[in-house]
Amino acid sequence: MPHRTIRRWICWFGTTLFASLILAGCSLPAIAWQAETSDSAILGMMAQVETTTLIDRVNQLAGETPAQIGGESYTITTRDTGSGLPIAKATQFAYEFLETRGVAASYHYWNECDIENRNVVGEITGVERPEEIVLVTAHLDSISTSGLAPGADDDASGSVGVLTIAEILAPYQFQRTLRFVLFTGEEQGLCGSDVYARQAAASNLNIVAVFNMDMIAWDSDAEPIVRLHTRQTNDAGYAADLAIANTFIRVVEEYGLKGALTPIVAPDALDMSDTYSFWDNGYPAILAIEDDDDDAGDFNPYYHTSADRVSEFNTTYYTNFVKAAVGTTALLAGVVHTPKAKLYLPAMSR
Ligand SMILES: [Zn+2]
Repeated sequence: MPHRTIRRWICWFGTTLFASLILAGCSLPAIAWQAETSDSAILGMMAQVETTTLIDRVNQLAGETPAQIGGESYTITTRDTGSGLPIAKATQFAYEFLETRGVAASYHYWNECDIENRNVVGEITGVERPEEIVLVTAHLDSISTSGLAPGADDDASGSVGVLTIAEILAPYQFQRTLRFVLFTGEEQGLCGSDVYARQAAASNLNIVAVFNMDMIAWDSDAEPIVRLHTRQTNDAGYAADLAIANTFIRVVEEYGLKGALTPIVAPDALDMSDTYSFWDNGYPAILAIEDDDDDAGDFNPYYHTSADRVSEFNTTYYTNFVKAAVGTTALLAGVVHTPKAKLYLPAMSR
């Protein structure tokens, strides 16, 4: 694409969507355009996240509306790992979603915690550093202490985040390999992710970052806090986790979400989500979650009940969260926009 066209497009983009880009984009000398090109690609990806699309997808996973699975209409009333047909349908839904978006899908079968099920994996293979793998994850299964388990916030919200990121990023090329993994058996003790992470370590898979989203649509107060859980500061792996968290923070600060989200690093090695399975196997990982701090008083009161429904979502918060996740994923994987594009690619090691 010729220089002038790129510049015009960026100016248009900045004027219409992000007023701040007028300054950042249109007053810089032409030599800076290569870097701007990468940024504008990421902003373009983030702009594709739409509330109506997200909610439509969560409605299907959480049983509010029927889903099309295997060419037939089916209502997913629960995603409990022990539910048999419903969780089989839910995993098939995710598999087909990825396949139809051009993301190579597969099932990862596991047997652990005296149960067996399957995780769903989608891959966009990196074009420059394919052996370096960035994982974007959530858990597809749900649980309830009362009746059915719609699990809208926990964790259809994160699962739809993963699927939507895969869809938006599929047309692009990345330096690193992206893997989108939806786990089952999370609610029984991180069972599906435990097997996945152990097998990854055993085969020396070079996972450079795990970005895990679990409960990302609840916000009932005026503070749009996002907690980014890492290992503890005295842990040798803390710096690598922090690099992932800082990538998320950078997206919020520099890609139009300042004020819309308030990310806070929580270095407590929280063992309540699939992130822990990767820490346990030496991999850099973070859990990105709504404000789950007990003392903050905004924990989802419908957690693990049949009332964890889409109608309780803060849709603005949820949409912004997924936008930030799109940008974070793109930065972690390194967008290959033009052969000469100057890229931000955080240095990461296991
Ligand atoms: Zn969860």
